[in-house]
Amino acid sequence: MIWFTEYQTKNTGLTVKVRESKSFQSEYQEILLLDTYEYGKMLVLDGAVQTCERDEFIYHEMLAHPALLFHSSPERVLVIGGGDGGTVREVLKHSSVKEVNLCEIDRMVIEVSKEYLPSISSKLSDERVKIFVEDGNRFLDERKGYYDVILLDLSDPVGPAEALFKRNFYQKVEQALREGGIMAAQTESPFLQEEYFRTAVKEIRAVFKNSKTYLAFIPTYPAGMWSFTIASDSVDFSDIKDTNISRLNTKYLSDTILSSLFVLPKFVSDMIEE
Ligand code: SAM
Repeated sequence: MIWFTEYQTKNTGLTVKVRESKSFQSEYQEILLLDTYEYGKMLVLDGAVQTCERDEFIYHEMLAHPALLFHSSPERVLVIGGGDGGTVREVLKHSSVKEVNLCEIDRMVIEVSKEYLPSISSKLSDERVKIFVEDGNRFLDERKGYYDVILLDLSDPVGPAEALFKRNFYQKVEQALREGGIMAAQTESPFLQEEYFRTAVKEIRAVFKNSKTYLAFIPTYPAGMWSFTIASDSVDFSDIKDTNISRLNTKYLSDTILSSLFVLPKFVSDMIEE
């Protein structure tokens, strides 16, 4: 019997019983593909769980749909990170979307996901998707005023993603959006990664005129409590533009969740109040 405990998180980590494991070493990180009893296939990067078949829908729906629904008609979307393809799959459910760019630094994450996680990665071959294997920070240096929605689907702010949680990077994201543009980012676990969470939200707020934070329950992420922050210079998030969510075939996001999206537990809102 094999048990795996993730080791990147501080002092505590998810433990899963594993049938089989495969490991790969890329230029950037150690990639583990675990076949777990409870959560299905699981992708682990440098000891931190990234996604798994059983609960991936929650993270991917909650990262992608709020930003796309608050936009009046998103056509050009950029996903930075997200090489597993789950966020791209959700983005493509929006019929207004004509072009999706995915900028993932590690080609091996894409290849492993295509081979072992087809239910998550299948839409990476859609004709509207263009994949760039590049550092997201450098990628944005050349893109100004182009995207309607940018989704930051990044690993923790250590290693290759560290610079992409900093103010200077959020400024590049802001400049890469066109009028009416919206950004959404995963902003870590308020419960177990308080410093990462506070810092990410603070830096996003320092750059964008409007921003809001929301949570989702994700069993395989630290403490099961995960945060996302949505931001824009022109949209104030008081009014959902597109309310027809039944066509998105979601399993977690519902009209009720959307209507109370920004309700936070007091201890979480206290962490990010100025
Ligand atoms: N759902 C996940 C989470 O919250 O932990 C994120 C999943 S996704 C697999 C994260 C991806 O970000 C990884 O594949 C990683 O290679 C990619 N990444 C990290 N740093 C990056 C960078 N500088 N530019 C582009 N992609 C990056």
